[in-house]
Amino acid sequence: MAEPARAKPKPTPETQHFWDGTQAGELRLQRCDACANVYFPPRPFCPSCASRKVSVFKASGKGKLYSYVINHRPAAPGLTPPYAIAVVELAEGPRMMTSIVGLPATPEALELDMPLQVRFEPRGDVSLPVFGPEENR
Ligand SMILES: [Zn+2]
Repeated sequence: MAEPARAKPKPTPETQHFWDGTQAGELRLQRCDACANVYFPPRPFCPSCASRKVSVFKASGKGKLYSYVINHRPAAPGLTPPYAIAVVELAEGPRMMTSIVGLPATPEALELDMPLQVRFEPRGDVSLPVFGPEENR
């Protein structure tokens, strides 16, 4: 396996709705119909109560910076180091590992709790959700 670390993810039956969403420019999460828990990553049952009655919905795409590391290693094509790998806490609650775009990868530019907004970067035949500064309206 000579693939770079950021090889494109492969959709599986459990994650297909998610990748269909990113392709359509939507961040899709799942919500449990039994206990209303919202969760990520995708799975066919609620991680809180194990119910299989779960629904997919379109998330707001908003979140805040929960934690990050700045990566200085040579990266896969399309990623020029240094770049930031972050955990974003989504407005709906779940946390998502992602990369930060549109901001310098420096501790000065990356403030914990700063508001972020999803955007989508094409990678092969999938679109990856990444996060950048909230757009001004
Ligand atoms: Zn549940």
